Amino acid sequence: MKSLYSKFILTTLVIMLVSSIIGFLFANAYYQNNLKRENDAKNMEIATNIAEFAENQTNLDEYLSHTAATGYQLFLVRKEEQRFYGGAFKETNLSQQVIDDVLDGEPYHGMKAFPKKTFVTGFFANELKNSVGVPLTYDGKQYALFLRPDIKLLFNEIHLLLGWMVLVIFILSLLAELVWSAMLIRPIRKLSHATNKVREEGFDVHLAIHRKDEIGQLAQNFKEMIARLGKLDKLRKSFVSNVSHDIQTPLLNIQGYSRLLENDALSEEDRKTYLRVIQEEAERMSILSKQLLTLSSLESKKEDYSRQTFDLSAQLKSLLHRYYWLIDEKDLSLTYSVDEVTYKGNPELLYTVWENLLTNAIKYNKPGGSIEVALDQVDDAINITVSDTGIGLAPNEIDQIFDRFYRADLARTKTNQGTGLGLSIVKEIIELHHGEIVVESQLGKGTTFTVILPHL
Ligand code: ADP
Repeated sequence: MKSLYSKFILTTLVIMLVSSIIGFLFANAYYQNNLKRENDAKNMEIATNIAEFAENQTNLDEYLSHTAATGYQLFLVRKEEQRFYGGAFKETNLSQQVIDDVLDGEPYHGMKAFPKKTFVTGFFANELKNSVGVPLTYDGKQYALFLRPDIKLLFNEIHLLLGWMVLVIFILSLLAELVWSAMLIRPIRKLSHATNKVREEGFDVHLAIHRKDEIGQLAQNFKEMIARLGKLDKLRKSFVSNVSHDIQTPLLNIQGYSRLLENDALSEEDRKTYLRVIQEEAERMSILSKQLLTLSSLESKKEDYSRQTFDLSAQLKSLLHRYYWLIDEKDLSLTYSVDEVTYKGNPELLYTVWENLLTNAIKYNKPGGSIEVALDQVDDAINITVSDTGIGLAPNEIDQIFDRFYRADLARTKTNQGTGLGLSIVKEIIELHHGEIVVESQLGKGTTFTVILPHL
């Protein structure tokens, strides 16, 4: 695997190289199109001046040597006579035709006419061809003088300065890039390390990345995701162990009591008691499996569940009728006031809600107690309250009753009928309908559940 770090460095080097080439091509094109003409004109003026002054000199050789020493390469020619002054030309390639033309008084614009070569900026080409030529008269004789600035002499320091500058810029940018990419990659490595740890050891990982940029955001999202997954994982584990326990207990009871029933010497009364226990345990398991099915179907329905408009008041009344005998049997009294209300929701799921709240109000009531059910239409929502005068809940219990498998103190509730799943199902169904459920309770006095469902 190629590391991100080496990729960064390689990319930087490639970028530097490519941009240098582009910069060079650009500078070359600029010289060829704009500067070349100006450079030619400038040097032509200098050459003309030198030629003009030459006429009044006593010693041409000396004069031209001095002039060359100020930073020029000169070539003086007349018939067979050829003399160079100043720094040497790398190439002395000049045609006789050009020389003859200058001798005839025609100035030579070699700099302007110097061929466009892509990779050699004409400015630096140390060739005799890349010069300007003017006629020069001395001592009654006609000469041709060719001139170009001695780049080496004039610009040597600038070359060095520029060279060092480019080198320092290059080294510093590379160093800065090394440090910067290391800083950038370190948190990514940490993240990758953390994901590996999650894969191998689970959700208990610590990630020390505190940045405010996109990587910081990524790390923050990762931390939140891990925290959530860890929580879900814990819930899943406790859910599985709770379910296993709740299946195991009634099964053991059924096994134990059915074995006892094998005894022929059992009294009729004992036999009936054992059979009742077996029936109750089987019923508990049946409720549990029904609730588990509801929970799993709720999870899959989270996004879309069918809704229809139905008569909610009729649904509530039919439920109350179904449970009337049980309320009566438990020596409880029931009062209700139900507005005529139609509601758009899922009738089967909402029936489960009312049934759970009502059976709880019966289960956790006290003999002689009462239950009150009300359905009210308020603004753009409906309120359903189920109150009882039962055993009530302690404040710390109220926070937990909607947790899966939570059951309040069994000694106080005096019943082992129940799974602790009912209210968590209730809450999920209400949230599916974008509603809320509120609990008010006083220990020993009673409890009121209020469901508020908005009309969607
Ligand atoms: P269960 O199957 O045990 O009834 P629920 O989820 O319906 O499970 O309720 C959770 C716990 O909340 C119950 O075990 C009980 O302790 C408490 N609870 C629920 N409804 C009432 C109520 N009306 N009065 C007092 N306690 C209640």
